[in-house]
Amino acid sequence: MTINITKTRFAPSPSGFLHLGNARTALFSTLLARKERGVFLLRIEDTDQERSQTQYIQGIEDDMNWLGLTWQEGPGVGGAHAPYLQSQRGAVYRNYFDSLEQQGLAYLCFCSERELDLTRKTQIAAGQPPRYAGTCARLNGEEVAARLQNGGQPTLRFRVPAHRTVEFDDAVRGPQKFNSDDIGDFVIRRGDGTPAFFFSNAIDDALMGVTHVLRGEDHLTNTPRQIMLLDALRLQVPRYGHISMIVGADGAPLSKRHGSRSIRELRQTGYLPGAITNYMARLGHYYPNNAFMDLDALASEFEISNLGRAPAHYDTTHLLHWQREALMRADADTLWQWMGTDVHALVPDAQQATFVAAVRTNVIFPEHALLWARTLYIYPVALSPDACKAVEEAGGAFFEHALAALDQHGADYKALVNHIKQETGAKGKALFHPLRAALTGELDGPEMAQLVTLLTVERMRTRLQACVAMTTSP
Ligand code: GLU
Repeated sequence: MTINITKTRFAPSPSGFLHLGNARTALFSTLLARKERGVFLLRIEDTDQERSQTQYIQGIEDDMNWLGLTWQEGPGVGGAHAPYLQSQRGAVYRNYFDSLEQQGLAYLCFCSERELDLTRKTQIAAGQPPRYAGTCARLNGEEVAARLQNGGQPTLRFRVPAHRTVEFDDAVRGPQKFNSDDIGDFVIRRGDGTPAFFFSNAIDDALMGVTHVLRGEDHLTNTPRQIMLLDALRLQVPRYGHISMIVGADGAPLSKRHGSRSIRELRQTGYLPGAITNYMARLGHYYPNNAFMDLDALASEFEISNLGRAPAHYDTTHLLHWQREALMRADADTLWQWMGTDVHALVPDAQQATFVAAVRTNVIFPEHALLWARTLYIYPVALSPDACKAVEEAGGAFFEHALAALDQHGADYKALVNHIKQETGAKGKALFHPLRAALTGELDGPEMAQLVTLLTVERMRTRLQACVAMTTSP
């Protein structure tokens, strides 16, 4: 009995950093492999020398690791099908090119870009679908030799079989049917000898034993070509599933214009990895469970049948929701690191734990933690207009009593409040607002009981005195 282990893969082209769209593809592939206790493979599709950059390979790997999307086979970890960078697999591809050529299943094409462009335009003008006209399909050996002698740099084209129906059952979109006569012979090796996407992508999936290919819907029409190629080479065809695109509120493909940013930028803003994975997992995939989940839980409840066919709508408010959920669950150490070096420089070592505990429910990004650190440790405090109003309404006597209370009780919030209440008769908002306003410059924020221990008596005194001055000066 052969046990077919589920193997999924992510196959990015390193022409940019990871963005939500391709990170989500990587996530779904990870989740499927984890759910089935299979293998998740990473392959770098860097055959396009002009567009691929080494910094992006490193960047993609870093971002995947940061998101927790670790691969069991691929760059860095190795595996039975190495190398995992397509730029290093030239010898593998050469064998298959030769085999296709020898069987007459592929042929050299000498058409120039200009000629191809002209044909395309003529076809479109005549209302025909643009496809290769087959100009070089029937060149004989002598003609080919002559052109080669003239220094031509031919491409290699796959000879698409005529009158073939290509059918497959898409794991997301259901049964698909294509007529091979609608597909022109396509390039599988570029003029510079490098393999074209259709070819290396399909061959590698088969050679690496990939069982499930989850990828963007934009690749759907590539699939019949790749199936014909694999059939011609008698290689195993994986199960393809084409995931719906992510769109902005206006229905157009997600872009910067919709506030979409690379994973790197989201990370720099301060999004936690769990926020992004929980959000992405629900972007085009339905989870009956609305709870925040780690990758294992997301995997165990992942269902291919819950992947939607309709476009998935990007919504920053949902991402922020998951950010709050992730923050709620983060431990103090993680939060402290997350707050960053500017915060670290302001908060004394001895107050780290109290600072984190005090502000954690009032921050969404590290910049908010920095604001609180500035409010607590850098004075004089700047009063917001509402805070100013509250201070003025309370009047100078209120703060005189507050100062007396401070001298008597120190940084004990409860005692301070009781003292002021007794002396001034103020209660509710009239009691709490001016005090908070004077000490923090705002009318809301973290628990005052914790803040006063961070503020220390000295700083509180300065702030209360400033309010006395403010309310008694003409
Ligand atoms: N390198 C291709 C891309 O980034 C991979 C497509 C696929 O997943 O098959 O679009």
